[in-house]
Amino acid sequence: MRGNRLNQILTAMDSEQYALTVGTAAGEPLTSAFEKRRVVHAGVRGKPLLPGNWQSTWQSLLKQKVKPEQRVAYIHIPFCRQRCLYCGFFQNYSNEEMETLYIDSLVKELQLSKGSSYLDSGPVNAVFIGGGTPSTLAPQNVSRLLGAIQDCLPLANDYELTLEGRINDLVPAKIEAWLAHGVNRVSIGVQSFDTGVRRAVGRMDDTETILAKLELLSGYNQATVIIDLMYGLPHQTSEVWANDIRLLKLAAIDGLDLYQLNIYPNSALQQAITAGKLPPAATTAEQAEMFALAEANLSAGIFSRLSNCHWGKTTRERSLYNTLTKAGHNVIPFGAGAGGNVGGVTMFLHRNMAAYIKSIEEGHKPVAAMALQPDGSELHNMVVGQLERGYLSLPVLARHYGAVVWELEALLDIWESRGLITRRADLVRLTVAGQFWHMNITQSVLECLHALLDGVHSVEVEPIAAQG
Ligand code: SF4
Repeated sequence: MRGNRLNQILTAMDSEQYALTVGTAAGEPLTSAFEKRRVVHAGVRGKPLLPGNWQSTWQSLLKQKVKPEQRVAYIHIPFCRQRCLYCGFFQNYSNEEMETLYIDSLVKELQLSKGSSYLDSGPVNAVFIGGGTPSTLAPQNVSRLLGAIQDCLPLANDYELTLEGRINDLVPAKIEAWLAHGVNRVSIGVQSFDTGVRRAVGRMDDTETILAKLELLSGYNQATVIIDLMYGLPHQTSEVWANDIRLLKLAAIDGLDLYQLNIYPNSALQQAITAGKLPPAATTAEQAEMFALAEANLSAGIFSRLSNCHWGKTTRERSLYNTLTKAGHNVIPFGAGAGGNVGGVTMFLHRNMAAYIKSIEEGHKPVAAMALQPDGSELHNMVVGQLERGYLSLPVLARHYGAVVWELEALLDIWESRGLITRRADLVRLTVAGQFWHMNITQSVLECLHALLDGVHSVEVEPIAAQG
């Protein structure tokens, strides 16, 4: 019978591991299905390569021709003008002299790959310039970077080129430099429209300014405008959150991403709350209610769902970079602190500015860590990609990866009985509670597949992505 082996594996777990994997039956599934969120990104760790092999591996990857499938590039800008209280990923304060030196190196890094068989054997479908705060770059520096991207990367005819930024940087001189050099999607970290909530965590602009700046950017009618909103911040009561959602409908945007606040241990936010300078942030159960309120409003309104946490407001929003990344397509990394995967090799580039610049000066790819993706990563990618969009198709997974997939049924039966999923003709759909807990569900599915595949690879947590 399907699921017998997994039943044995689940039964053999101690109570703590069982609760982590399966969750708990007590309470409402939305607020209590799991004790807490386990991971921000579910991931599979590969086999590390020794440093002595990194450059030769990169060179041999560049000599490969790729199959005609989609791929993307990630470009990291590790500068911010201010440090947000909740951020765990701040690298450097903005400084135009340092920025100029950095862009010199970044342009050179792009040029070092230009014309390679790997890059020339197919188009790059999407580029994401993230950070940090890429919008802090001075117009002349961002123009040089964008020129190098256009020069060195074979962009597809219908490419998506996203630049991440802050409201404060939405001024004509910067916007016009972005648009003149091919940026066609701008992602702005709004986090909350509420002036008090924003200022408490280091974001300075007020509600009226946010709406006016989004109107300004949208008025150029040349780029898709996306915003990030965060839920669970100090002072962000349910009334404030309801108003955030109301303002989403009025704002001049094409789409939005919702993020659950994570409080990193020893972060400035944690310290401010502990010292009583800020009220406590929302509990996980309160965050779940906030997610459900947003989901109900957005699903009933003019928004279309692109993934568990991403909605389009107009048809302009494609979210191509995120979709291709989540589905496991190649991500070519550039810049200090960038990460990616190329031809079955995962890599992270130096975060340290001096080490990054030195490596480029020596003509090297500035690799700080490299690993071979393990067997089974294609299955992992398909599971992550499907659950990210709120479903799991067992027949499709089984067609690609065999009967082991059907053995997940023991786990799915439990989650169905607890209201986290529904099932119809072998198509699993996440309920709203399942969508809130989708990262726990994804991690558990990966771990169970790992156990069923009998130790072919190990499943471990990857670094949490920055929210700029
Ligand atoms: S949240 Fe974004 S803008 Fe704020 S400090 Fe962190 S990286 Fe910079």
